[in-house]
Formats: sequence, C-alpha cells, structure tokens
Amino acid sequence: MADDTAKIIECPCGAIIEGSSDDDVVTKAQDHAKATHDMELSRDQALSMARPA
Ligand SMILES: [Zn+2]
Repeated sequence: MADDTAKIIECPCGAIIEGSSDDDVVTKAQDHAKATHDMELSRDQALSMARPA
C-alpha cells in the first residue's frame, strides 16, 4: 500500500534524502545510490532505511 507520508533516508555516507512519499524517497535514494555509490538499491532496501520526516 502506498504511503504518502514524507520520509527521510539518512545514507551511511552522510547524505540526507528527503521525499514527499514512499515512492518519491525510494526514487531519490535509488538515484543517489547509483550516482554516488554505483549501487543498485532495491525498493525494500530503501524503505528499510527510511523514517518519517
Ligand atoms: Zn550515500
């Protein structure tokens, strides 16, 4: 079920990724992981790191 609560993911590298919804924060975290860490992040992995903003 989609969650429209704003979320924050704190990356181990120190970057803070903020999204307006689960989908938004997951997309941004995946972009960050790919661009910064050359890593494929799954939706489940991203959501496990997310907390309410
Ligand atoms: Zn990072």
